[in-house]
Amino acid sequence: MTGPRLEIDLDKISANARILVGRLAARGIAVTGVTKAGLGSPEIAKALLEAGVSGLGDSRIENIERLRGGIGPRPVLSLIRTPMPSQVDRIVRHADISFNTDLDVVRQLSSAAQAAGRIHGVVLMVELGDLREGIMPGDLERIFREVLNLPNIALRGIGANLACLSGTSPDAGNMAALSAIAVSMEAAFGVALDIVSGGNSANINWALGDTDIGRINDLRLGEAILLGREALERRAIDGLHTDAFALVAEVIESGIKPSRPWGTIAQNAFGETVQTADSGKIMQAILALGRQDSDPAGLIPPSGMTILGSSSDHLVLDTGGEPLSAGAELRFGVNYTTLLRAMTSPFVAKTMMKARSQQGALAAA
Ligand SMILES: *Cc1c(COP(=O)(O)O)cnc(C)c1O
Repeated sequence: MTGPRLEIDLDKISANARILVGRLAARGIAVTGVTKAGLGSPEIAKALLEAGVSGLGDSRIENIERLRGGIGPRPVLSLIRTPMPSQVDRIVRHADISFNTDLDVVRQLSSAAQAAGRIHGVVLMVELGDLREGIMPGDLERIFREVLNLPNIALRGIGANLACLSGTSPDAGNMAALSAIAVSMEAAFGVALDIVSGGNSANINWALGDTDIGRINDLRLGEAILLGREALERRAIDGLHTDAFALVAEVIESGIKPSRPWGTIAQNAFGETVQTADSGKIMQAILALGRQDSDPAGLIPPSGMTILGSSSDHLVLDTGGEPLSAGAELRFGVNYTTLLRAMTSPFVAKTMMKARSQQGALAAA
């Protein structure tokens, strides 16, 4: 098998999703499985659906289209980034729902939905302080009124997204504010909002804590399911797998070298000035894995090894004294950014693995 490759353990993903779906169901919250870090992979989507997610969300129409074609029975597909006006025709055709923050965009969705003879669902995102997206609460009533009157648009609910751009954390206060907005919009317009989507993997601690969840009945979860971590402190979630993904790379040079560069030191290829401590001679290995393949900053090396640096195509490691020969493979854990970049790199093969217990038994035999 060639490297670099991303090994994807579908059983672990499914197990993570099943546990979260169960724990959140006990709190009255459904899970929209977010597939964007998996590049809309139908295999990952199936693992999520088997585990009981209520629908799938992705930020890219390309991924939604891939999902639409690849997973048999029709799940609810939501575009969770506010649509590009240039894509509204594709969006009303393939997404059941889109998350929106701009009235002009919803008007264009309405025209496209009329032309396509479809009803398009809209969730309006409310700004609660993270400043990545959302309608300011004070503008919501006016926009609600307009959206309710747009032909071929079904206003399905409201949502919020926190801890993405600025790190504003979901807490009892802002979540109660979102609930209160849902209640007041329902009262003002005599409508029922079937979706009140409280946020993403940063909402896990809030959702599984003991505060009242109010009207919130949906979370959109990617990282928590795929990597088993909540997204505020990146702590592992009890009982979940944190190693469903591994990035495997191949050694292309190995040997003993000084730890300190020599010559006149200026900027490196990326404009960085690197300070290197002198720790004598070290066992060094170079792997065929670089910034074109992933984000080396989020790689978790095998225990005892340290990443010294990376370029477009090379990862340099201190192996901690372990001699490695060219051709040997090393497995790295990944954080979310590294996963996202590996998934989107054409240089990284994706290997889907299922029934791990059996494969493990075979490998051990
Ligand atoms: C990416 C994204 C999510 C999922 O985020 P995770 O932290 O991976 O759970 C949820 N909502 C929106 C709007 C997103 O863009």
